[in-house]
Amino acid sequence: MKLICIGRNYTEHIKELENEKPTEPVIFIKPDTAVLLKKQPFFIPDFSDDVHHEVEILVKINKVGKYIDKKFAHKYYEEIGLGIDFTARDLQSKLKEKGLPWEKAKSFDGAAVIGNWLPVNEIDDINNIEFSLKKNDNIVQKGNTSHMLWKIDEIIEYVSKYFTLKIGDIIFTGTPSGVGKVIANDKLNGFIGTKEMFSITVK
Ligand code: ZN
Repeated sequence: MKLICIGRNYTEHIKELENEKPTEPVIFIKPDTAVLLKKQPFFIPDFSDDVHHEVEILVKINKVGKYIDKKFAHKYYEEIGLGIDFTARDLQSKLKEKGLPWEKAKSFDGAAVIGNWLPVNEIDDINNIEFSLKKNDNIVQKGNTSHMLWKIDEIIEYVSKYFTLKIGDIIFTGTPSGVGKVIANDKLNGFIGTKEMFSITVK
């Protein structure tokens, strides 16, 4: 199982990190060892002093596919979720400066939170999903999939040109603005609409 992640998919987040607006989606992959095990706390790794939360809508692939046309992309998932793409921002900035890959900053053990799943048929419009992240009961990130530069079905078309999608693969669709540092004892709760999708503590 692999996690395919999209970077820079929301304009406001691109601005906050002073990144260039991409002309094509930015993609990176996390291995299955990055998945934070259920009910486990997130441990801040010792190689970073600036780990950020990035709340993101997730898509779980339910069929094998390659070169999927966006017209047919909806046939490749039945569940939508919410998660966190934890990012060691200090390390990522150094790697970015040197033009090196981001894996050490994004793909370390525990760097992928995967919450509960919602059946697609319970969602009115996947291109209009409201989601949010609370840190210690205050909303820190708020997003709506209508603001994505690349919509879910376009992402599937794009990534499946490069990687065969397999059953159980998960796509992280990018974060809205409001990313920020986590510290020990923070409590993070993610929501789609008013439904809580995950609850984790930071150690
Ligand atoms: Zn991200």
